[in-house]
Amino acid sequence: MKTSIKIKFSIFLGMLLLLTVFILSLLVLRGIESNQQAEYEEYLAQQAQRANIYFMQTILSEANKVPETFLATKGEQFAEALELISGQLLALYDNEGTLVSRKIAHMDSHDIRRALGFALTNKTTYLVEGDSLYYLTPLKVGREQVGVVQFYYSLAGELRFYNRIRQLFINIGVGVFLLSFILAYFYFNSFANGIIQLQKMVEQIRKGHFDTYVLSRKDEIGSLSQGIHGMSERIQKSIQDMEEEQKKLKVAINKLSLLDQQQKQFIGNVTHEFKTPLTSIKAYVDLLEMYPDDLELLEKAKTDIKSETQRLYEMVEKVLQLSAMEKYDFEYNKEKLEIGQVIEGVINSLRGKIEKFGIELETDLKETYVEADKDSLTIILVNLLDNAIKYNHTRGNIHVKNYQKDNQVVVEIANTGMGIPKEAAQRIFEPFFTVDRNRSRENGGTGLGLSLVKRTVEGQGGSIALVKSDSKSTVFSVILPSVKTVE
Ligand code: ADP
Repeated sequence: MKTSIKIKFSIFLGMLLLLTVFILSLLVLRGIESNQQAEYEEYLAQQAQRANIYFMQTILSEANKVPETFLATKGEQFAEALELISGQLLALYDNEGTLVSRKIAHMDSHDIRRALGFALTNKTTYLVEGDSLYYLTPLKVGREQVGVVQFYYSLAGELRFYNRIRQLFINIGVGVFLLSFILAYFYFNSFANGIIQLQKMVEQIRKGHFDTYVLSRKDEIGSLSQGIHGMSERIQKSIQDMEEEQKKLKVAINKLSLLDQQQKQFIGNVTHEFKTPLTSIKAYVDLLEMYPDDLELLEKAKTDIKSETQRLYEMVEKVLQLSAMEKYDFEYNKEKLEIGQVIEGVINSLRGKIEKFGIELETDLKETYVEADKDSLTIILVNLLDNAIKYNHTRGNIHVKNYQKDNQVVVEIANTGMGIPKEAAQRIFEPFFTVDRNRSRENGGTGLGLSLVKRTVEGQGGSIALVKSDSKSTVFSVILPSVKTVE
């Protein structure tokens, strides 16, 4: 388990303050120690001085003024008197190191003997054992050492004071640590929470969830969250864009492979359809070579070759037109056209054929405008009207009308005739599809007309549909985007 930064920060701050208290306590305790030492050293030096003065005074008041004799005879009394004056327990030794005063129980250790030896060389020394201090100083008459006074000094008071201060520092240390930990914990809480939230955000992004948010803080953590949020949005956008591109690419690939398939099929159909009239022409040529004098054959060959050549010609033309439809939008020469006028122009060009079949033509033309390529529009209308003539009865009827519907222009071409069977209706826009091959052939049909119309209409941003077809009439409707007449 990871330790939270809240805990880490708090422990660090607590430790830092604890260290400060520790160093401070060391300095203070060292100060107290040296101060206590200086105090008792000075006090004991004064006691030593006082003892020497008192000894001098006592000797001078004695009849026998030889110090050694005095110590030997009245040493014990002197020591007791000195104890009373100094208020300290003490021991008195002569110059040989022999105890002349009353013996104190705890005054006899190896260390004290060593210290005594040192003090007998006219030097002051002291030693500390537990809370007892033994101060050994020369007893002198003038400059001459006559013995050693050993004071007993209790350090209990000093030690108590020292220990009390030390305990105080320990308590302060623990208190400071706990208090600073708690305060730091709450102080860092908000920072740590911010960082924890950032960490969660990053984790979410890593898992692919990009709906991050901005922390409402005005510090670096706030701007960091803003940065992460921005980054997450950009990543999301890039991924979306990438997915979008991928989708488009997929659609394009599918479209391309479909086109490729259609093209292969189309070429197959074209060659197949070309082969039939060519075979017929070739057969006539062979026959004419064999029977050059057969006038009847010659006559039949002339009409058949003529019609097959016409069919081939029309097929080539439509294939050329179809391949011409494979162009980019900018290649069309689009202009604003009044569709009624264009329809009339096409009807005029077909008038001879209409009259030939004794067909009655009715029009209901309105002034509507489209933005389209004139050649494309002509191809559409010529083919549809040509079909309306071709697949009509003799002395049948054709009705052409156009009207505006919302922002579209509709052209409807209706004709009498046998109609298109339901099962064929689905396929009439496929290249080379004909309902009745012989009838189509008789009329010079190739099965390419409606597929050419469909492609051309779509190239102009419109659509074509077979609205209805039964034994009475067949209706096709072309819908094209209109242009507003009032600008
Ligand atoms: P084609 O060039 O042979 O005329 P199309 O693609 O134009 O070929 O037409 C496909 C088939 O749809 C035709 O064979 C015909 O049977 C049928 N068709 C097309 N237009 C009409 C129409 N106006 N009335 C009846 N049938 C039609």
